[in-house]
Amino acid sequence: MVSREHCPCGQPESFANCCEAVQKQGAQHVEALMRSRYSAYVLGQIDYLIATTLPAQQSGLDRDAMQQWSQSSQWLGLDVLGSAQQDSSPARGWVRFNVRWQDAEGHQLAHEELSHFVRGGDQRWYFIDPTVRLKADRNGACPCGSGRKVKKCCGPYLG
Ligand SMILES: [Zn+2]
Ligand SMILES: [Zn+2]
Repeated sequence: MVSREHCPCGQPESFANCCEAVQKQGAQHVEALMRSRYSAYVLGQIDYLIATTLPAQQSGLDRDAMQQWSQSSQWLGLDVLGSAQQDSSPARGWVRFNVRWQDAEGHQLAHEELSHFVRGGDQRWYFIDPTVRLKADRNGACPCGSGRKVKKCCGPYLG
């Protein structure tokens, strides 16, 4: 169980001083964004999960499925295994993490993932969801808003 004295993401700080502050002020680092998204799953903040996904992908997200997964799971913990970001154009970052949860049938599950993030023209970091297919022309403008071609920009991280 997640202790209420600690942030749901596992940091010793309170939620208000950890992921809630990130949710309100925006993340400076992709690891903070990833942690705040995990806390959003724990707390059922589906709007935040959608808002922090690449804007061009947001309409392709299945809100009901996200809500269902968020609520039917008992979240057991998050371990961040590594992260980095670079001030390229556009700025990119990645986080490798392991998440543990118990499903509605009582099975304990774990999932390790390498998530990719890109900083949009509004200077906010966004999660690139590899499960959301974009009908993007590979030679067209990248949906992250960088002005570069998809194939030379976020193409490798898109579904
Ligand atoms: Zn946190
Ligand atoms: Zn891009």
